[in-house]
Amino acid sequence: MEIINEMKILLPSHSVNEGAARAAVSSFVIQADPTVEELSDIRTAVSEAVTNAIVHGYRGTMGNIELTVRLLAEREIYIRIKDKGCGIANVEQAMEPLFTTAPEEERSGLGFSVMESFMDKLRVSSKVGKGTTVTMRKRLVKNGD
Ligand code: ATP
Ligand code: MG
Repeated sequence: MEIINEMKILLPSHSVNEGAARAAVSSFVIQADPTVEELSDIRTAVSEAVTNAIVHGYRGTMGNIELTVRLLAEREIYIRIKDKGCGIANVEQAMEPLFTTAPEEERSGLGFSVMESFMDKLRVSSKVGKGTTVTMRKRLVKNGD
């Protein structure tokens, strides 16, 4: 699909960069006039994906998170969050609601469910030892102004 505009950011996996990623995505997406609710959904989905890269992908280590945001034709927002961390052995299982590998940290295993419900499309591809790529899309329906 036609790319109208694009932003690429590389962030090291400091936990503070969860907020930085959320703010960067907001400031880019705003050009497409999202509603308050649409923007909030996108921000939350990005937070979940970036947090996963930080706390699971790069657990105990540091690495880069590559964030790509695109504005496509017909007001579709494309977001890709890519890490080169530990990867996920079983993606299908990881995406099940309430599945978590970190219950002792009070993680609820709902990150992927949140991304799935707040965005229109969610795709996760991962390879153990290589990293994880999360791709999400959302079509903005109403005009925010
Ligand atoms: P919550 O998001 O509710 O705090 P959670 O992070 O465990 O809990 P999900 O976000 O749904 O739940 O992720 C499920 C599981 O998938 C994680 O527990 C982790 O094992 C794995 N996972 C998710 N993202 C990554 C990633 N980027 N790299 C490695 N493993 C991941
Ligand atoms: Mg999570």
